[in-house]
This record gives sequence, structure tokens and C-alpha cells, in this order.
Amino acid sequence: MFNEEMRFESPIRWAMVGGGRGSEIGHAHRAGAQRDGLFQLVAGAFDIDPARCRDFGTKLGLDPTRAYADYLSMFRLEAARLDGIQAVSIATPNATHYAISKAALEAGLHVICEKPVTFSADEARDLQRRAQAAKRVFGVMYGYAGFPMLHQAREMIRRGDLGDIRVINMQFAHGFHSDEIEKHSPGAQWRMNPAVSGPSFVLGDLGTHTWFLAGMLTGCEVERLCCMRQSFVHSRAPLEDNAHVMLQFKNGAVGTLWASAVNAGSMHQQKIRVVGEKASIEWWDEHPNQLRYEVQGQPAQLLDRGMGYLYNEVPGIATNRIGGGHAEGFFESWANLYHRFGLAMAAADCDDQATLESLWYPDIAAGVEGVRLLECCVESADNGARWVNF
Ligand code: NAD
Repeated sequence: MFNEEMRFESPIRWAMVGGGRGSEIGHAHRAGAQRDGLFQLVAGAFDIDPARCRDFGTKLGLDPTRAYADYLSMFRLEAARLDGIQAVSIATPNATHYAISKAALEAGLHVICEKPVTFSADEARDLQRRAQAAKRVFGVMYGYAGFPMLHQAREMIRRGDLGDIRVINMQFAHGFHSDEIEKHSPGAQWRMNPAVSGPSFVLGDLGTHTWFLAGMLTGCEVERLCCMRQSFVHSRAPLEDNAHVMLQFKNGAVGTLWASAVNAGSMHQQKIRVVGEKASIEWWDEHPNQLRYEVQGQPAQLLDRGMGYLYNEVPGIATNRIGGGHAEGFFESWANLYHRFGLAMAAADCDDQATLESLWYPDIAAGVEGVRLLECCVESADNGARWVNF
């Protein structure tokens, strides 16, 4: 079980770009990063509005001079301090990720960036090369990937409990944008603007999450795909608020991905179902402590986090902070990921390759794959749902 005993002599001095007051995801980063004491927030360029950044940073307990007007000033001035930042998380709208990540790597920082990590796969590959050359950790915040029951699912598939994988069904389909809420929601407004959001809306905003989980669980590699996308709220065109993708994998498996923000009445409905020749598993993010396990010819089972019958010897499964039966959730998943990011950064700083190779976390390679998905889907959908090689 996780507790606060795992500490560094001094926590990683950490900053954020974006994630300011009122942002959707800023608090999740701060809650996740600081949960285990491996990171300490010491600086930030939290907001596009400098005055609001200073006020917010001060209220978070920062030295007001370290709540910066912009990220370039932060990287420059922090680099000049003996106690300057060592790592930064980027939680700004998509259009800014590439430039901020590049500047952070140039400043010698470890980076954790939101998804989709860039607009184009070329940009994402460029960040990958830069992170490798600078020997910096580059994590991508596929925040659901820290849930222990997903690691149990991954291990069951790896051990062959399901047999060969035949079908992977993915969906992340909520109803929060069933009407034109971007008229009064700034967070929705930029998501519908291609200049800020990128070439897609729901595929990038939602689909990349479940897509990452499918790869994480099964290791199946996509051979080709076919996508159709729509803007049911017409003003959103060319960005889609609904998309269906059909997938063929190299091992012969097939799959589907439904990403939607117009699934009226739905809260999240992020689900992944993996069907093997002997059994199937299903995970649902609204009930993340359970994994449904269905063996052909037997009654369905509901496996629960924190129980002795799981493959607890595998890292990632026994990352409980409280016993089974108590609900762990989103913040714990993020803390589990930040814990791994922290260990990886410490290992990178002392060139401990063995630890780095043993640590799994969503990295820039996963970021590249997510952006490749978007490129292929857009190419397919905008050419009459043509099949596209991945
Ligand atoms: P948001 O609009 O709610 O907040 C964005 C924040 O960034 C605001 O505080 C804004 O002032 C600040 N900002 C904008 N430009 C800036 C700049 N140049 N410098 C400094 N600060 C700047 O957006 P959000 O919903 O929090 O999304 C942010 C990112 O996080 C997006 O890439 C989104 O896709 C991603 N996201 C990820 C998850 C997840 O589960 N991993 C969930 C939600 C959002």
C-alpha cells in the first residue's frame, strides 16, 4: 500500500504552465503531483492573465515573485536561481503545448504535458527527439492510466487469461456538449476552435484517452482504420462533436472507438471492453475500482481493487492508498502517475538506466501515437471514411 514514507531528500522543484484559477484540470495536476511529497510546487505561469496568475499563485502559497507573467520569463528567471525549478507540467489549451514543451526542454526541465501533446505527429516526434537528446523525462497526462484495475486488466491479458485478443471496443462518450455551451463556456469555446484545439475536437479531447488505454492493456498495434465524424451542432464544423472509428490490428483483432460529446444524458461512459478467445474484460471509468471479468460459460465476476486475488506482485496493481471497498478515484490515479513520473525524473537525473527501463508511465512515445491517431482519423473522415494505413 502507498503511504508517505517514499520520499526524496528534497522534493522535485516543480512548476506549472496553465492550470490557473477556474481551469478544468489545473487542480488535478497539483493534487496528483503533491500527494506523495515527491514534487513541491514552487513557481508557475498559471494564467494567460498575469495579474490573475500572481493573485492565484500567492493564494496557493507561492513567493509572489515566482508567479510569473509568462512561461518564457519563468524558464529564464528560474534557470538563474540555485533553487530553480527542475520540472514543469503544461496544462494550457492544445495550440500552445508544442512551443511550451520545446522551451521547457531547452531550459533543461523534465516535462509533463497534457494531451493531445501537439497538433501534428511531426511536432510530437520532434519533442521526443529533443527529450531523448536532453535526457529529460517527458510524461503525457493520460490521467486514467494510473487506475490499479487497468493494470490488473493489462496483466490478465499479458498472462493469457483471455486467450488471443479478438475485439477491442472503446468509447468515451459524454453528453456535456449536447447543445452549444461554447456560447457561454470559455473552456468549451477554445475546444471548438481549430486554431486552438487542433484538427479535431472529441477525438483529441476524449478519444485519445481510451485509445491510449487500449494500447496499454493489449499491446495490439493498429494496422489501418476508417473514421467518420460529424458536427451535430453545426457551428462546430469542421471540428467533430461525434466520431466513430473502425480499427484493424496487426494481430488480426478488430475494434471500434466511439468518441462523443453529444451522448445526451451520459456522464462519461468511458469504457473499454477487450474480448479474447476464452474470456472478456470490461472497465468503466465511472466505477474505476472494479473490473468485469466474463469467462465464456461461467457467471460474470466483478473483481475489486485492493483484494488478494489480484496479481498484486505486479507494479501498478497494488498502488492502493486505502483498502478495498473504499472508493479510490481520479486523483489517486493521477497521484499514481505522478509518483512514477517523479521516480523516473530522479532516475534520469543520476543516469540510472536500470530504473528508467523498469518504470512504466505514459511517455512522449504514447503522445506521438495519440497524435498519429488524430491525423489518420481526420484523413480518413475527410475523405469519405476511407480506410487509412496507420
Ligand atoms: P481551461 O481552458 O479550463 O484552462 C486553461 C488554463 O491555461 C487557464 O488557466 C488559462 O488562463 C491558462 N493559459 C492559457 N494559455 C496560457 C499561456 N500561454 N500561458 C499560461 N497559461 C495559459 O483548459 P483545460 O480544460 O484545463 O485544458 C487544458 C489542457 O488539459 C488541454 O490540453 C486539455 O486537452 C487537457 N485536459 C486534459 C484532461 C485529462 O484528463 N488529462 C482533462 C481536461 C483537460
